Amino acid sequence: MKSESEYRRDIIEVCRRIYQKAYVASNDGNVSVRTSENEILATPTGINKGDLSADQLIKVNMSGDVIAGFLKPSSELKLHLHAYKNRRDIRSVVHAHPPISTGFAVAGIALDQMAIPEVIATLGTVPLAPYATPSTDELAHTIDDYISKCNAILLSNHGVVTFGPDIFSAYYTLERVEHSAYIIWVAKSLGGEKALRRSDIDRLIEIRRKAEASSDLTHTEIGEEKEQLQTGSVSDESYLVDVIARAIVDVIKTSKIGK
Ligand SMILES: [Zn+2]
Repeated sequence: MKSESEYRRDIIEVCRRIYQKAYVASNDGNVSVRTSENEILATPTGINKGDLSADQLIKVNMSGDVIAGFLKPSSELKLHLHAYKNRRDIRSVVHAHPPISTGFAVAGIALDQMAIPEVIATLGTVPLAPYATPSTDELAHTIDDYISKCNAILLSNHGVVTFGPDIFSAYYTLERVEHSAYIIWVAKSLGGEKALRRSDIDRLIEIRRKAEASSDLTHTEIGEEKEQLQTGSVSDESYLVDVIARAIVDVIKTSKIGK
């Protein structure tokens, strides 16, 4: 278990990356870590993620009351608390507005194309939660249909929220969501993405199931995705073996970072 100063350092590092990658503008976005049963360390409202310092983070309890720190919590902290209350395996929540995946959220398009092997093997589909006004209680409840089975959710006309067993897992999931959105966006501009064959998708889902069974890294529903599968065109067996191998390495690498 990390010390509080280590948690603070990690949050500042993730905030710096989020800002450098332009996943947020101005004072947008928020990051939190559940450091104990009833304590959350979180970014405050009103400060740019690139300028934030460790002593500006605030500590709240599971009711959202500030118990340490001199700044105000973000109004979107409700979304974080809601996630922690719904899943005990979630120890960190990252919310940002990365422009491409948020573009999908604004266009009303979920990231469920089943076309990128690494994404299927590590992340699964990214659903689109219905719209609610940011900062309201309603926003937190828009994720209710997905929180039990997803580590990343698009928030309609708003942004992305990701979850993880530690802050770097949650952050890397955000990176993966944005990167896959970029790829799907390019594919759509080139005539549309080609979904993998169902048998290939099944193999990737099996890889993810085994990875999840051997760690508490992710918590994703597999059965529902099988219902959504489409047929596609990747048929080169050696290619698939290669991407599966890389996906496994990716899962192992991600699960070790930040621990
Ligand atoms: Zn937001």
